[in-house]
Amino acid sequence: MRACKQCNYIVVTKDKLCPKCQGELTDKYSGTIIILEPEKSEIAKVVGVNVVGSYAIRVK
Ligand SMILES: [Zn+2]
Repeated sequence: MRACKQCNYIVVTKDKLCPKCQGELTDKYSGTIIILEPEKSEIAKVVGVNVVGSYAIRVK
């Protein structure tokens, strides 16, 4: 599992780039939140997320 440094999106991939925003991926992140309904989620607004998926809370 890797997290994007730009959008915090978590992906299971061996690629080095985020499939969403082409940002750099890192395995150094902490915390995970899962956004199921971005339109309705307060957390999603805080994190700035608009796509369903898993996101890292903090990316180093
Ligand atoms: Zn990204």
